[in-house]
Amino acid sequence: MDDIERLKDAIGSARRIVAFTGAGISTESGIPDFRSPGGIWTKYQPIYFDDFMASEEMRRESWRRKFATDETMIKAEPNAGHRALAKLIEQGRMTSIITQNIDGLHQLSGVPDSKIIELHGNTTYASCLDCGHRHELGPIRKAFLGSGKLPLCEKCDGIVKTATISFGQAMPEIQMARAQDETMNCDLFIVLGSSLVVYPAAGFPRIAKRKGAKLVIVNREATDQDDDADLVIHAEIGPTMSKAVGVN
Ligand SMILES: [Zn+2]
Repeated sequence: MDDIERLKDAIGSARRIVAFTGAGISTESGIPDFRSPGGIWTKYQPIYFDDFMASEEMRRESWRRKFATDETMIKAEPNAGHRALAKLIEQGRMTSIITQNIDGLHQLSGVPDSKIIELHGNTTYASCLDCGHRHELGPIRKAFLGSGKLPLCEKCDGIVKTATISFGQAMPEIQMARAQDETMNCDLFIVLGSSLVVYPAAGFPRIAKRKGAKLVIVNREATDQDDDADLVIHAEIGPTMSKAVGVN
């Protein structure tokens, strides 16, 4: 039996599958891995949450970067990896997708919001930091690029920020709790495209194993947790998952 057959087997005999996705699934859609060498986080100093809150200049810089780098994000489409997960969700075999990605590609592939747990937020819209009201990026972009206007909440005049979790910003508690809950209750935990270095990401596969789930890791490079996994596949995610799930 080869590794794809083993993966197919593991998926076929599981009752509650949880996927954990990282940058690697989205690089196959042309979105650069921001943490990799040459990624924007190595080119720019990150803007910490406290500085964003304290300084209008930092907010301006943050929006400037956002719109300067947004082009690839706007054009990106879900790939075969995203579609394979969408199919498992649709079949009811996969209960949720926990993701470190902020690109919204799981939603674009047809997975309902209620099945996606975003640990680092979402960069395809903005929200008010005081009342949480959602703001679309189109009008913000137009006002910012047109007259340099920084967005304020139309409901409460609060500061509006992309709906991502910044450096130094608290992890979203509800999502973290949901992610832990899903991880503890699954019988197959599939890591796709995460090097599992950053916490809390690194902790989830351990929780799944401890609770008796099978652990599968699909990643181009080796990860720190390969030794703990029941199956490790070092390959592209799209081709691997589409063969294992039977979609294109
Ligand atoms: Zn508000």
